[in-house]
Amino acid sequence: MEFAVLAQCFEALEGTSSRRNLVQLVTTLFRQVEHPEEIQQICYLMQGRVAPLFMPLEMGMAEKAVLQALAQASSHSLEQITERYATLGDLGLVAAQIQGETEQPIQKVSVNEVFTVLQTIAQTAGKGAIEKKRVLLVGLLDHVDGESAKYSVRIVLGKLRLGIGDATILDALAITKWNDAKKRKLLEGVYHVTSDLGLIARTLWEHPEAEEAQRAIASLDIAVGRPIHSQLAERLPTAEAIIEKMGSVVAQYKYDGFRVQIHKNGQQIAIFSRNLENLTDMFPEILEATRTQVQAEQAILDGEALAYNATSEEFLPFQETTRRRRKHGVALMAQELPLKAFVFDILYKDGASLLEYPLEERLKVLEETIPQTRNTLMVTRSHLVDDAKSLTLLFDEAISKGLEGLVVKRWGSHYEAGARNYNWVKIKRHAAGALDDTIDGVLLGYLFGRGKRAALGAGALLVGVYDARQDRFVTVTKIGTGLSDEQWGSIRERTKGLPTDRQPARVFSLITPSVWLKPAIVIEVLADEITRSPNHTAGKVGDEPGYALRFPRLIAFRDRDKQPEDATTVEEVIEMYQRQGKR
Ligand code: ATP
Repeated sequence: MEFAVLAQCFEALEGTSSRRNLVQLVTTLFRQVEHPEEIQQICYLMQGRVAPLFMPLEMGMAEKAVLQALAQASSHSLEQITERYATLGDLGLVAAQIQGETEQPIQKVSVNEVFTVLQTIAQTAGKGAIEKKRVLLVGLLDHVDGESAKYSVRIVLGKLRLGIGDATILDALAITKWNDAKKRKLLEGVYHVTSDLGLIARTLWEHPEAEEAQRAIASLDIAVGRPIHSQLAERLPTAEAIIEKMGSVVAQYKYDGFRVQIHKNGQQIAIFSRNLENLTDMFPEILEATRTQVQAEQAILDGEALAYNATSEEFLPFQETTRRRRKHGVALMAQELPLKAFVFDILYKDGASLLEYPLEERLKVLEETIPQTRNTLMVTRSHLVDDAKSLTLLFDEAISKGLEGLVVKRWGSHYEAGARNYNWVKIKRHAAGALDDTIDGVLLGYLFGRGKRAALGAGALLVGVYDARQDRFVTVTKIGTGLSDEQWGSIRERTKGLPTDRQPARVFSLITPSVWLKPAIVIEVLADEITRSPNHTAGKVGDEPGYALRFPRLIAFRDRDKQPEDATTVEEVIEMYQRQGKR
């Protein structure tokens, strides 16, 4: 396939205002693809990458280098290019404009050729890398049309935001392959275990016959080095409700740090976030501890990393731990603020998947695998509980130790990748008057205010949640009061490049903000109550009102560990609404 065809599809996706069209456009594109390798490349490119999300393969080109490449590829000076950038605000658009003016003949360039150049840019490292990357980009820009240049540049800068989610791509794959959108569920299950859209697409294309393809997909399994989607927790209001619903449970302390999935393959260790990001280089002490403490050649562990002072038995607050999420000065920070990893599950050991093992058996394997526990890797203590009183005591104990609460797990349950169900339930302490949990909302737009706020660029934020069934974002609140000037500044900084002149295709809102934002930034919001509101679209069916947050306040930014699709879902909001009265 010519890359220009893919670029045209990207252009159409950007201009679309409905999710159904998104799926249709992607399906039409996929139908034109013949080769397994090509479909794999296209899936990665659609995610703005040249490898699956979890591979730490970044382009490593700053804006300045791209500006220079654009100047070199055109007959313009760096100043002229910089000026155009100031006007257009997007280097992709600058690239398209320049290509439109050039008299150079445009050549037919295939998806594979562009992918290979982009991949080489990403892989180029070491001495002289900046120069080499620039030469590669200039070489590419010399040959392609305007649209192709636009999207190549956006991918290089890590700024391709097509507004399609994984679910859209999975839908399109299911329709292309089986003419059946319902088969998305099958693909989704495999995606949760493999986290690699390219691999799934490639496997489908390698097996032209429908049933054969289904078998091949079903055989894709957990593998060391490839993160699986984390099991997530539901909420219940009280210890009584938990015992009533779950029966015998395994209760563990709830640690407030980073979720870490640790993969050991001999001496090679990798660490992934719940967002599938590769964090391996950030936590040298956990790498070292995994090498020495884990009694297995191969293992996949699930846990939470946080700063803990073993002498005073103090758990440091999340704000402290979060200082370790950095790419530079890692060694120094590791000394200043060493982390412990509290390991609460094991998903794989020496060639065998443990996902289908009942919880108690996995925990037994975990103890055997990390026998010496008071170290950097600490096996989380599990308490078997079957009455509400003991559970409450344990909860109080957790709170008194400065922890967030408990995670309670169903006896006998399997590990379900990516699922949020009543196999795991979290109970947290909550502030008086507040809901029993915070909400992870997605920024969908700004509403301009008056006076001082207007000068800062915003008066209120339009915030949504994720409607997982329909794969779209719906509104749940506006946040205005209570935001500090610092928070406003931070919001402006984080939303750079996200404003868009039309309502994004996967956003459903009755409120029109002054500026729409592409859904990307996840914020943690605490509210007093959930109420019904005709103005908001979360959970809105027909003429019935939707659900809205009362007295919302911004607690923290979560965009580093959550994708917009990881935000709180409509279903969760409705459950929280129904639970309110019962607390
Ligand atoms: P979620 O992960 O459910 O989307 P969240 O990121 O806001 O929500 P919490 O509401 O704090 O996180 O609760 C779940 C998280 O708690 C898990 O993802 C994990 O990172 C953390 N956690 C801490 N201790 C445990 C434990 N013992 N078992 C499972 N998870 C734990």
